[in-house]
Amino acid sequence: MDSQFHSQLKTKKSFLEGLKRGEILFSQCEKCSQKYLPPREICKVCGSKSLALKPVDLSHAKVVACTFIQVPPERYSNEEGYGIAVVEFKDNLRLLGRLNTALKDPIKIVGLNVKVVVEKSKPDFWFEL
Ligand SMILES: [Zn+2]
Repeated sequence: MDSQFHSQLKTKKSFLEGLKRGEILFSQCEKCSQKYLPPREICKVCGSKSLALKPVDLSHAKVVACTFIQVPPERYSNEEGYGIAVVEFKDNLRLLGRLNTALKDPIKIVGLNVKVVVEKSKPDFWFEL
């Protein structure tokens, strides 16, 4: 297993630990201040491995891109289909996630604010209008 793959696993684990506490975590480079969401272990800008995990401010979450999956994968086969949205938080942090909505028109959804729901027990997260 190469070190990049290993560090991706480690940050994925940290991200899941954050969800268990009800937080979406990003990482910020302590050297050049670059922010990463989902979090990274190694800074792409300066190569530093000193990155701090911090919770995203979830009070401002706006849809910047959206699409709908009409034929869901097996895991969600009991659903009619669902949205996938890129949501932007403060400081231009962006995250891809599921969007639970009855609206199926992406054009009507881009620009709207969403609520971030974190299900600590799974752990999982999704967006709601
Ligand atoms: Zn950096």
